[in-house]
Formats: sequence, structure tokens, C-alpha cells
Amino acid sequence: MYRQLLIGIIVGCTAAAVTCALYMDLCSLIFRCGCDHMWGARDAHCNVHSLTGKHCPWCSIGQAGHGILFGVVVVAQLVLGIFPRRWSWGKRLATALAAFPVLGCVEGVTLGWITGYWN
Ligand SMILES: [Zn+2]
Repeated sequence: MYRQLLIGIIVGCTAAAVTCALYMDLCSLIFRCGCDHMWGARDAHCNVHSLTGKHCPWCSIGQAGHGILFGVVVVAQLVLGIFPRRWSWGKRLATALAAFPVLGCVEGVTLGWITGYWN
């Protein structure tokens, strides 16, 4: 039982680590805002730093907003890593990894739509 839980935590944390690494890339993909890889310039060239023009809604949402957006994805990944116990760890990892682009795109598109970023 504890072995299964440990494997689930490792699976969920692995997926969360990938989310951490690719978080800024998804921002750049959705908003074309100038964000770069987490290991690159990150948000240094994002339009959120421009005095005029549109500001990337993802980067301008603030720390609490980031916490909520990121937290929803990571919690979903941990749940998917731990709870579908009949699934193999590979299937749980694939599903937890897929949660990031799926939920991240839903969050990003919703945020962009609400703020009128593409208008
Ligand atoms: Zn951005």
C-alpha cells in the first residue's frame, strides 16, 4: 500500500516538475508575449514590461493568480499520479503529464478571453 502511494507521489511530482520547466513556454505559446524558456530569459522580454500595448494576462495576473493557475495544474497532476490505482504507473504519468497542456490551455484561453487579450 505504501509502495503504491510512494510511486503515485513520484509520478505526480515528476509531472509537476515538467510543468515547472515548461510553464513559461506555454505562456509564450498561448499569448505570443515574448516569454522564453524557464532556463532562458523567462519573462524578461514579455510584453507585460512594455509601457504601452497589450499585456500578457498570464504574466500580469500577479503572484496569487499564478499560485491559483499553477496550483490547479499541479494538484490535478498529483491526484492523477496517486489515485487511479488500477492504472499502471506509466498510464498515470502520461495522464498527469497531459494535464498540464490541457488544463494550462483551458486556463490560458479563458484568461485571454476574459481580459480581451486577442481583441
Ligand atoms: Zn508572458
